[in-house]
Amino acid sequence: MSRLAFSLFLSVQVVLVVPAFAQFVPLPEKYESPQLSVRESNSDLVTSPSVPVEEMPRSPQLRATRPTVATRSTAIPRPPDGFYQTPDEVYPWMDTVARARPDRVRLLRLGQSSQGRAMWAMEIRPAGRTPAKLKRLAVICRQHGNEPEATASGTRFAAQFLAAATPQARVLAEKVILLVVPIANPDGAARYQRRTAQNIDMNRDWGHNHSPEVRALTQMVKSWKPQLVIDNHQWLPFEKMPPPMAEASGGQLARGVAQNMSMSNAARGFYLAARSRWGLDSLCHRFWGQRFGVPAVLLETRHRPSVQGARAQAIEQALSALWAATKTLGR
Ligand SMILES: [Zn+2]
Repeated sequence: MSRLAFSLFLSVQVVLVVPAFAQFVPLPEKYESPQLSVRESNSDLVTSPSVPVEEMPRSPQLRATRPTVATRSTAIPRPPDGFYQTPDEVYPWMDTVARARPDRVRLLRLGQSSQGRAMWAMEIRPAGRTPAKLKRLAVICRQHGNEPEATASGTRFAAQFLAAATPQARVLAEKVILLVVPIANPDGAARYQRRTAQNIDMNRDWGHNHSPEVRALTQMVKSWKPQLVIDNHQWLPFEKMPPPMAEASGGQLARGVAQNMSMSNAARGFYLAARSRWGLDSLCHRFWGQRFGVPAVLLETRHRPSVQGARAQAIEQALSALWAATKTLGR
């Protein structure tokens, strides 16, 4: 289907799926993203970089639900594998996982997009452990709606982390609490377009807060307090794009994570450059790293059309990098 036809198809679907979305609110209580004016939200955020993130207030809404009944034997359903990775493919999968593993998974409603689509995060924690003793990893995927492989790798990583099929993964899943936002830009993802429905490039909006999506994600990071943020992207499927890379911001941990992402990729025969740059801080990773000292890494995988299996390779590269990040944080 052409992009135009697909967009038209989805714009019709949006009307049709609203009741389904309304039904798909199984766990959290309703949480409205803070409707701050730009000036207010800027003054809230543009604080001295020396303000430790630990002093930021926790949002009680983000702790509204807790894992309850232990049902460890239920199989974890496979994440959807369609090319477009739309919200109405991915959100029902998240719901199924949360229902299958209520002892370890909860869904957090972070807010909503400018067109009213919910923004969901999936939190995965070890059963019966005190969250305060765990390392906290947040993975934000798909600020750009036309980067569906970022969602695909985010959901697969969540599924692998939950399944913990290897001894090493089991050790990490006992030490780390994971928060994955598979679709940071639901309106863009529904239309396969880079920007939000308000025509905002989210990854130039951090600190400006013109979009409700960035406001909701900012609140999430401040409330959930990750020790490491990964911002998961992909270079678009054109031949002349830079090589895959991990760019660190916010100190030694972030630099170590980027290095280990690169080495982990190299061990699988993939090239992924590790770097660290100071600059434009309306990008997610630099916003947290430069302004608040929260270790953050931008991950860009590459999809080259001339390479057979390019999509699968890009997802594999991201998965390898995300596990390397988890390992670095969890040790
Ligand atoms: Zn991107």
